[in-house]
Amino acid sequence: MTKSFKLTTIQDYAKVVGDETVDRILKKAKQLENLHVVNVNSTGYGGGVAEILSSMTILMNGLNILTGWRTIIGRPDFFLITKNMHNAIQGGEMDLTEEKKRIYEEVVYENSVRIHLHNHDLVIIHDPQPLPMIEYYVRSRPWIWRCHIDLSNPHPGLWNYLKGFVDKYDVMISSIKEYKQDVAPPQRFCMPAIDPFSVKNLPLDEKVMDAKLAEYKIPTDKPIFCQVSRFDRWKDPQGVIEAFRKAQKEVDATLVLLGNAATDDPEGEEVFESLLHSQNDRIRILPYGDDTILVNALQSRAACVIQKSTKEGFGLTVTEALWKGTPVIGGNVGGIRYQIQDGENGYLVSSVDECAARIVTLAKDKDLRERMGKQAKEGVRKNFLLSRLLEQYLDLFIEVKESVVKG
Ligand code: UDP
Repeated sequence: MTKSFKLTTIQDYAKVVGDETVDRILKKAKQLENLHVVNVNSTGYGGGVAEILSSMTILMNGLNILTGWRTIIGRPDFFLITKNMHNAIQGGEMDLTEEKKRIYEEVVYENSVRIHLHNHDLVIIHDPQPLPMIEYYVRSRPWIWRCHIDLSNPHPGLWNYLKGFVDKYDVMISSIKEYKQDVAPPQRFCMPAIDPFSVKNLPLDEKVMDAKLAEYKIPTDKPIFCQVSRFDRWKDPQGVIEAFRKAQKEVDATLVLLGNAATDDPEGEEVFESLLHSQNDRIRILPYGDDTILVNALQSRAACVIQKSTKEGFGLTVTEALWKGTPVIGGNVGGIRYQIQDGENGYLVSSVDECAARIVTLAKDKDLRERMGKQAKEGVRKNFLLSRLLEQYLDLFIEVKESVVKG
């Protein structure tokens, strides 16, 4: 007998978002049955894009939308260049030499030879790594470029180069309207969302949480503040440590920075190592972020989650924590501004001092944390579950499936 597993379907969402929403989604999906869709990105694991694709592709297949997912294979020099691009799109520096362009385009070309995107009704390319792939196909169906990065202030020289590829797409999607660009294709804006049924987001038994925190020797005697993020300079882990040290002058608490590595991010180890000298009994810097139960336990048990990014397309980690009823102190940037309503489900901060002051406020006031936590969960239920993002995709697919969208 073939073994089968229970996978999440959109019907499972009815108990969270209501029958009406699910029925509407089912009707829309009916129009798309057997549509052959493929997603291409640069990693199957680590980071928000892989997190969304792993749940979204299952949901879509459950609706008979034949949705595939391919990842491109790259050499270390390719990923160094694409991480440099990622940084420069978010406002960093880049010396875009002809040699870097050659390596970038050559690796994408090799991948396009290998992955055969010929028979699909819709192709969705994620982020800059596979962006030039469109050059190497004769297309008869729409291609969508979905950019997950903070595009508010891209490096002009780099953006001008990438725009040459973007202009060939039929639609560009980014997370919020502030990322709108002067490009040829029509633009759509869809904020990412989370899967409430994933192991990371399902409620955990208190005993399981206790055991997990004990396993990693995380003290639970004082309020826990934590940031769960790839070790990436835009997530400002150093700033979190400085803010926590300032707050420690007024309150007793524990800080945990938990991170993991993504296969397309070669800078993680260096950032992680640069933080290690700050470790002590109350400041824990842990590279065990692949342990999903640990991520869940920390986001659930923390007095407050911090996401002090200085650039952030959209922080899934913010939504994950809010869904667990945990208030979040987040950098006042990018998508985080839509996720946190200042003073209601957390705080938006623009400096180390502001972050420190908010840590103090929340460490001292359990009632406030609980009030914010309730609002936090309800906000996610209304706006940031995958059912909403799925419906936005279905609307777009219906719009573009027969042709190429206009204006
Ligand atoms: N993540 C994780 N372990 C870690 C760090 C991050 O599982 O140690 C997950 C996190 O829970 C979230 C995703 O990776 O689902 C990160 O997405 P986000 O949008 O916050 O940031 P990105 O890494 O895409 O910039």
